[in-house]
Amino acid sequence: MSLSVSRKAKEVRPSSTLAITARAKEMQAEGLDVVGFGAGEPDFNTPANIREAAVRAIEEGFTKYTEASGTEELKRAVCRKFERFNHLHYEPEQIVISNGGKHSLTNIFTAIINPGDEVIIPSPYWLSYPEIVKLAGGVPVYVRGYKSNGYKVSAEQIRAAVSDKTKAVIINSPNNPTGMVYTEEELRAIAAVAVECDIYVISDEIYEQLNYDEGGHTVSIASFDKEIYRRTITCSGVSKSYAMTGWRIGYTGSNPELARLMGSIQSHQTSNPNSIAQKAAYEALTGSQEEAIRMGEEFMRRSEYIYRRVSEIPQLSALKPQGAFFLFVDCSRLLHRDYKGIPVESAARIAEILLEDYLVAVVPCGDFGFPDHIRLSYAIAQDQIEKGMDRIAEFIQKLE
Ligand code: PLP
Repeated sequence: MSLSVSRKAKEVRPSSTLAITARAKEMQAEGLDVVGFGAGEPDFNTPANIREAAVRAIEEGFTKYTEASGTEELKRAVCRKFERFNHLHYEPEQIVISNGGKHSLTNIFTAIINPGDEVIIPSPYWLSYPEIVKLAGGVPVYVRGYKSNGYKVSAEQIRAAVSDKTKAVIINSPNNPTGMVYTEEELRAIAAVAVECDIYVISDEIYEQLNYDEGGHTVSIASFDKEIYRRTITCSGVSKSYAMTGWRIGYTGSNPELARLMGSIQSHQTSNPNSIAQKAAYEALTGSQEEAIRMGEEFMRRSEYIYRRVSEIPQLSALKPQGAFFLFVDCSRLLHRDYKGIPVESAARIAEILLEDYLVAVVPCGDFGFPDHIRLSYAIAQDQIEKGMDRIAEFIQKLE
């Protein structure tokens, strides 16, 4: 009994995307030529000006604790970014810099959730949301997005899911895993429901600059009016847009009271975000944007290619990505067909076969709420995408 562990910890499911990526890397290390559609991270190196800023930080001794919620310098840069890209005015005291977007989300839910509070999560969802909500003592409530509506949920669906325990709704646009983007009209309707029902909106805009239709500009729900601004926590970071996944810098803009609370929570958990990475993030946000734009354009080109390849396979279907770097593929027509004489029952099994027999890593989306879909990340080189798609097509031909 004395060695028992927390029930909360036991309930957490390990991240299946990280597990698949780890397995693919292991196989690559064994010398196998694995194509990895698994990882949700850019294949590009962090741009040189950002790397140089970090080296400078080290050499100049910027290696001590910083303010718990981030340096004033970086907060000001984040404010300018919000102003310029999102038409959002925040003062530095409303900004909290954290160790990655995931950490920002953890701070948010720790700051707003009381035990049993419900959080509405549109499904399909990024697999970490339910786990972060549960760790904070909350209860995820799923609302299903349908393919006919770009896998997005409507304001009416959200209103129907609100109960007297609802604390917040999460909106993630551009979306992981679907690559879809909410329109301004859809966001305005959701904002009206959030205000009417008096709930928070967590707007996860981590893929904001990878929005193909809007030229890298995503509409922020908090920008509509004072009421929605007050109740929205806008969350973003440098991981995806600047190829900085390993640096671990995310940030939030919120009302000052919540920012203070999140700052205090963070001060006891991690003291501060990494000092060197903060200098690098400052350069990312204030330095040349050329590389970020180039990477965004390359993702868009790849999205068109991979979408075309998947569309050519009649047994698969997908919607054309509007942003992020994921293609969400409906595999339901493959299910219950035989592979080597055994029926294929789920996308998880498809992923297993693809990895073991065809050396292609894909993410089965059971943990994203859609067990008959897989997610293909096209944040990998073009020749890898071509090779991976050839192998997927070959696998499908073998199904009986
Ligand atoms: N939000 C979404 C939707 C994501 O896909 C991710 C990363 O995969 C994050 C947040 C967190 O990003 P970070 O690497 O900055 O923690």
